[in-house]
Amino acid sequence: MMVRSTLANADYRPHILGLDRAGLENLLADWGEPRFRAGQILQWLHARQVEDALLMTNISKNLRRRLAEETRWEEPSVLADHQAQDGTRKWLLALPDGNAIETVFIPEESRATLCISSQVGCSLACSFCATGAQGLRRNLETHEIIAQIRVARRLLGLDAISNVVFMGMGEPLLNLRHVLPAISLLLDDFGYGLSSRRITVSTAGVLPGLFQLGRESPVNLAISLHATRNEIRDELVPLNRHYPLEELLAACRAYPLPPRRRITFEYVMLHGVNDEKQHARELVRLLEGIPALVNLIPFNSFPGTNYQRSTPDRIDSFREIMLRAGLMTVTRKTRGEDIAAACGQLAGQVRSGRRAFPLKAAG
Ligand code: SAH
Repeated sequence: MMVRSTLANADYRPHILGLDRAGLENLLADWGEPRFRAGQILQWLHARQVEDALLMTNISKNLRRRLAEETRWEEPSVLADHQAQDGTRKWLLALPDGNAIETVFIPEESRATLCISSQVGCSLACSFCATGAQGLRRNLETHEIIAQIRVARRLLGLDAISNVVFMGMGEPLLNLRHVLPAISLLLDDFGYGLSSRRITVSTAGVLPGLFQLGRESPVNLAISLHATRNEIRDELVPLNRHYPLEELLAACRAYPLPPRRRITFEYVMLHGVNDEKQHARELVRLLEGIPALVNLIPFNSFPGTNYQRSTPDRIDSFREIMLRAGLMTVTRKTRGEDIAAACGQLAGQVRSGRRAFPLKAAG
């Protein structure tokens, strides 16, 4: 009985904010409308961010009515809005199924970055990450990924975001089905008009997804490396048991990187775990021949963790070794710590999630 009533109530209309140009063109073709309308509609929806089909004045009344009636328009509401002392802002967004995700806005002098989530929770269970402790509830849909940008622009202004990073909750390469159309909307001149240099996808190293991303989308790539030996990385990033370091680095070497770009390697600095000088020398060797930017991230603590942040001295000497070897290396400034908005602190409100991947597959 339950099943039947759920089906009867389910809304199978497409969400209007989840259609990229190709998706919208298909819908219009189904409706017998010309394809060029897709650009006009995208512009109203995304570039100008109108929230009502009736306002799209260069579109026929009939098409406006169909858009209003035959597609979904609902958007997440803002459950909480936190502002850190350094200007970082974090929003908790309520999804219709009772889950909530987090999005972080990071203003800097020369850019303003939005850090967005791609999943509700995460299945990868990295031992040093608050999101990983929750398990995965579900993938975000394209419109829910896009909604994060819309909330920020609604509250801060349409020009407020210069960069978008997929470094919030979740593993974007395990949700490419919804992440790729979102990227296409971010890149579209009639969508959000961002250059591919201003979009970064961060991954723990899901190799099949990496190859697909490389083929389909020219955005920046960040790899959450965090260790130089498999025995350490197996502990920190359990996904490493499926795609060990040598395979991950071979994939990075083969990645079709656009000219003059670098792959960012993120390396969380954990006291007594991966922060010795010897590790730095190993990292230099591992990255040989890859156009790389190394991003050292001082560990951010969260309730229940046993890890500790490396001391500033250790981080400096690690960085010194990298620099001397000619590797571009920066220490990531910790932002928004007072509102738990820093890397690895995003927990949202996830109803009991599962750790289906990769641990189950490993069993
Ligand atoms: N799943 C993707 C996207 C998350 S990005 C990925 O793993 O890349 C979030 C970044 O913050 C990743 O580099 C992650 O390893 C790092 N991170 C996670 N927990 C952290 C913590 N407690 N302190 C510092 N960085 C952390």
